[in-house]
Amino acid sequence: MRVLRVALEVPVAKLFDYLCDVSLPAEAGDRVVVPFGARERVGVVVESAEESEVSSSRLKPVTRVLEGAPRLPADWLEQMRFLAAYYQRPLGETIAGALPPRLRSLKPLPRRRKTAEARPDGAPERFVPGPAPNAAQQQAIERIGAALGSFRAFVLHGVTGSGKTEVYLRLIAEVLARRQQALVLVPEIGLTPQLETRFRQAFPQASIAVMHSALEDSARTQAWLDAARGDAQIVLGTRLAVLAPLAKLGLAVVDEEHDASFKQQEGLRYSARDAAIQRAKLAGCPVVLGSATPSLETWHNARTGRYELLSLPERAVPGARLPEVRMVDLRAESAEHGFAASAIEAMRARLSRGEQSLVFINRRGYAPVLACDACGWAAGCRRCSAHLVLHAAAERSRESRGRLRCHHCGAEEPIPRACPTCGSVDLRPHGRGTQRIEEALAGYFPAARILRIDRDSARRRGELARTLAGVGRGEGDILVGTQLLAKGHDFPKLTLVCVLNADSALLSTDYRAAERLFSTLQQVGGRSGRREQPGAVLVQTRFPGHPMYRALMQHDYAGFAAAQLAEREAAGFPPFVFEAALRAEAGKLAETMAFLKAAARLVAVPAGVHLYDPVPHVVTRRAGYERAQLVAQSRSRPALQAFLAEWSAAIPAMAPRGVRWHIDVDPIEFD
Ligand code: ADP
Ligand code: ZN
Ligand code: ZN
Repeated sequence: MRVLRVALEVPVAKLFDYLCDVSLPAEAGDRVVVPFGARERVGVVVESAEESEVSSSRLKPVTRVLEGAPRLPADWLEQMRFLAAYYQRPLGETIAGALPPRLRSLKPLPRRRKTAEARPDGAPERFVPGPAPNAAQQQAIERIGAALGSFRAFVLHGVTGSGKTEVYLRLIAEVLARRQQALVLVPEIGLTPQLETRFRQAFPQASIAVMHSALEDSARTQAWLDAARGDAQIVLGTRLAVLAPLAKLGLAVVDEEHDASFKQQEGLRYSARDAAIQRAKLAGCPVVLGSATPSLETWHNARTGRYELLSLPERAVPGARLPEVRMVDLRAESAEHGFAASAIEAMRARLSRGEQSLVFINRRGYAPVLACDACGWAAGCRRCSAHLVLHAAAERSRESRGRLRCHHCGAEEPIPRACPTCGSVDLRPHGRGTQRIEEALAGYFPAARILRIDRDSARRRGELARTLAGVGRGEGDILVGTQLLAKGHDFPKLTLVCVLNADSALLSTDYRAAERLFSTLQQVGGRSGRREQPGAVLVQTRFPGHPMYRALMQHDYAGFAAAQLAEREAAGFPPFVFEAALRAEAGKLAETMAFLKAAARLVAVPAGVHLYDPVPHVVTRRAGYERAQLVAQSRSRPALQAFLAEWSAAIPAMAPRGVRWHIDVDPIEFD
């Protein structure tokens, strides 16, 4: 009899020992069925050992070994161990979260596809190259290409449209020629089938596994198995793809590496970018972090020489230039229905030339507040400390009136006919969201085709992708949209971007707000003028002289980043320190705060680690829970890690029932 240490999906940070008959061929990396309590569970063998600390008379035997999937490789288990330790999460839950649901269940697995193995042996992959690389692209291809076969991290800093994707494709061609696999992470793949199409055109014979969370269970499992068996030569996916085992990883690419969606905000709160770097290290291959506006963490690492910086300073299409960015000073020019006259004129000019305009406003719905003019009452959510957002009735729906919706908890209410406090019927919307802007534009341009694109306009799966593809073919004269429109789309006829409401981010207390706004505006501005016609970006603002806007006008990411980093260093913020947040929520804020205060005293805080006082979230109440957090900081990552390990082991025993908590390592969002 041997002993197997098995990781199970339970919220305790330990492995469970089982007996295994010598005749049963179970090894580390196998999925096994084991008795646990009254039922059977699927677990993953992490180690096999000669003996257990538990006396063998109390150990139960493994029921059976599950087949149909390849044994999970040692470097994958190693990565899981690393992630579990780094992000303070039990190994069993970490592993379970990384496996597609099918592989954690007793359901049969899809059978191996024939086509995947059918490739004639030794035949090189066909690569259909795009345009010949320019000098900057060539330099990047050569530097990264020379590093294939060993670990090295590169930052590919390329302005929007500079041809980063072409660089990835040429490198991947080299990786495939070496009979290795490439992993390409993108923030959103469901929205941009353009990217998948481009990969398939470049590699018409290669097997490409696409992975994202919106896939059906069986398709996701199939993609995962293709990756694990080495059948998929290219794995293209969102953050979860970094958790798939790739048998022969030869290159990892993280495109738009600054994007916040690479950080998972629940369960295992991992950064897929950081996990990709770790993965590349384990696999001994290069990793490329691509962005027009790298995160300040990444930029700092490039400046200090930990990562190698490669730049693509110009747009790749000959004649295509970066858009001209101008401020529309709202102190000098008043806005009507949300628009300054010069913005309306700019759109009119585009319309007359048959070009597209995009109006960017980062707020869904009709208006963020519905208030009573007589007494000042404003519609609020019963379960959150937040206003309800007024949504107008959707076209194509049977509703005749709009609704009030909470953007924090999803609660919905009908619009009251009169003020619940004073009875006045003068309820009025305040502020503007996409729907109200759409309405205003219809007033200005009755003959134009106006398309609103946000999460409300595209609820059904696939609808958004179809709309975006239509826009790419020139459908729609004026687009109104949120962040959804900013990411990676290529709209050839788009030559004007109008940005509304950007100022609000400048007034935020979050030290990352400026960084995020700069990158969003660069990104959304980058949709403009991607072909021969020059593009323009108009930003309506009350602070036209703000340094962030000045950097934006000059396309000066480096200058902006240097100024931000200097501020962060002076204030003691990341990337000059490392952070973790202990977040908690309970029915009453007093309970939440008491828990956090007790947690702060729970273990001795070592020198070099600093705990801040707990503070309530800005939106304190959400879905009936009152939330607060406390931040731990250190200049030394190992010191912080050691403290967190001790802390997270001690908290479960003292956390009262009714308090929910978690630790977020390297947090990026604080609300
Ligand atoms: P990015 O990923 O940096 O936004 P892309 O790789 O999508 O840029 O390239 C933008 C556009 O430029 C695409 O239409 C692409 O085909 C084109 N392109 C890329 N490299 C070149 C080149 N060397 N010469 C001409 N066109 C190019
Ligand atoms: Zn009132
Ligand atoms: Zn709510």
